[in-house]
Amino acid sequence: MEQKYIRNFSIIAHIDHGKSTLADRILELTETVEQREMKEQLLDTMDLERERGITIKLNAVQLQYTALNGKTYIFHLIDTPGHVDFTYEVSRSLAACEGAVLVVDAAQGIEAQTLANVYLALDNDLEILPVINKIDLPSAQPDVVKKEIEDVIGLDASCAPLISAKNGLHIRDVLEDIVANVPAPKGDPNAPLQALVFDSVYDAYRGVIAFVRVKEGRIRVGDKVRFMASDAEYEVLECGVRTPKEVKKDSLECGEVGWLCASIKSIQDVRVGDTITNVEYPASAPLHGYREMNPMVYCGLYPIDSAKYNDLRDALEKLQLNDASLQFEAETSQALGFGFRCGFLGLLHMDVVQERIEREYHIDLIATAPSVVYHAYLTDGSMLAIDNPSLLPDVQKIDHIEEPFVKASIMTPKEYVGAIMELCQRKRGNYTDMVYIDDTRMNLIYELPLGEIVYDFFDKLKSCTKGYASFDYELIGYQPNKLAKMDILLNGEVVDALSSIVHREFAYPRGRAICEKLKKLIPKQQFEIPIQAAINGKIIARADIKSLRKNVLAKCYGGDISRKKKLLEKQKEGKKRMKAVGSVEVPQEAFMAVLSMD
Ligand code: GDP
Ligand code: MG
Repeated sequence: MEQKYIRNFSIIAHIDHGKSTLADRILELTETVEQREMKEQLLDTMDLERERGITIKLNAVQLQYTALNGKTYIFHLIDTPGHVDFTYEVSRSLAACEGAVLVVDAAQGIEAQTLANVYLALDNDLEILPVINKIDLPSAQPDVVKKEIEDVIGLDASCAPLISAKNGLHIRDVLEDIVANVPAPKGDPNAPLQALVFDSVYDAYRGVIAFVRVKEGRIRVGDKVRFMASDAEYEVLECGVRTPKEVKKDSLECGEVGWLCASIKSIQDVRVGDTITNVEYPASAPLHGYREMNPMVYCGLYPIDSAKYNDLRDALEKLQLNDASLQFEAETSQALGFGFRCGFLGLLHMDVVQERIEREYHIDLIATAPSVVYHAYLTDGSMLAIDNPSLLPDVQKIDHIEEPFVKASIMTPKEYVGAIMELCQRKRGNYTDMVYIDDTRMNLIYELPLGEIVYDFFDKLKSCTKGYASFDYELIGYQPNKLAKMDILLNGEVVDALSSIVHREFAYPRGRAICEKLKKLIPKQQFEIPIQAAINGKIIARADIKSLRKNVLAKCYGGDISRKKKLLEKQKEGKKRMKAVGSVEVPQEAFMAVLSMD
């Protein structure tokens, strides 16, 4: 296939604006997938993704489209994950394309992730084709949305197709738009190979399968190739495309998007954003844009049943085969025993991993509160990266502590601006800017500590704006602050898994809030339990759990045995998620309490 007939593109959108539905319609219209094979939202492969309606894993499909001009084109549709945790992966998928179809909901207009995705597409010099979706909705306002696209993004939207992905209306207009306006790939088929790795999956029989975009040169079965960032060399055993069925080919030509496998055992060799070149005829430099992926959020994962420690290690190892950005190492907690410190790209990533361990590997977990990575500068001039607050050295050894900050963009109807500013204030945010999107909506820009938003910021934002605000952020670097470790003592003993790093000015109210929260969460026991918050050994807050006076069975007046059994079962049920910390039974929710602020 000549390059001029190839079109490589992604679909980008704010969540729920219809990206996956449009992808399904495109697959149908190009008859890539026969009707009876058509499962709803074929590109979202994992069950979890389907359930949550989000796309986590990338996928690339080759389609054939015969245009109205009578010529047949090869399309490569590259799906991108739709969540801020995966920004780097999105940017590498976009780098594999020449164009992006920008889906905007005709009733919602531009949202925070619309804009964030547009910026990523522009960074990668993509041609952006706006498409207005959901015009079947009675609340659709295509003209207002067109004007927004022109005013806020600066794209000409006058010719944007008005579609209903749900009803299959005007999908052909989108395909014609792609043929006419997405540039064909420009690489030189005879240049040294440069292929961009934008995704990988692990296959039990063939090892790691890399998804690549051939930018220059070509890849043939039998070629010896090198992954330039990891410096690993392999012989290509198979390559091909997905339609979405796997189709083997002898080569991947310049401009094409496909997969290759080479008996690669370690996913660490196949890094997203890396460049593959030919060992005999190598490129002088890799494609630009490669970055190492570093976890942003850490937490401890502990099996409730300590006998499952090895099972948990196995589960993490298996998950890591498909997920190079998941990191873990063994750690021991005085309170929780043997477990793992795990690093994630963000909270969604963390949730997904935890859920998969419980569902697919049947291991019940206690997870400690997520923490960001703090930089502790010591008086001896060295710097320690702290991903577990309990490991912060003694205060005498610390010169100062820095924490990661993000620049957040919050789009909202203007009546909620006050509530959002109040929320950002409470989260130690610094106001940066505020601009009108149109007469009724604003974009608020704040700098916020990542540690304050990783946990419940998004939920809080949703509830104070009735779900009308959207949110996106990017990391902007580290800033020093008045930070200190706050310890929590149960029954006079420090519980390491409950330590957190707090801002000193917010320490008193937070200490009180945590003690009160723990008091509610930890069930009464046979003895009184004091809960204390302390900074540098100084108690700053306290609450007491009164002792249990009556036995639960005392209520049963002896007679009714089935009722007695039920009560005992209920107790057992309640115990499932508990971990004995010293002499105190502590439920899972308590470990999250350190993040609660109200
Ligand atoms: P994504 O998050 O961007 O992938 O969005 P989805 O494709 O999963 O769509 C989100 C929701 O919007 C789903 O409930 C779809 O059925 C619905 N939806 C998508 N396209 C349309 C459309 O054209 N009209 C209407 N009324 N609903 C749509
Ligand atoms: Mg989707």
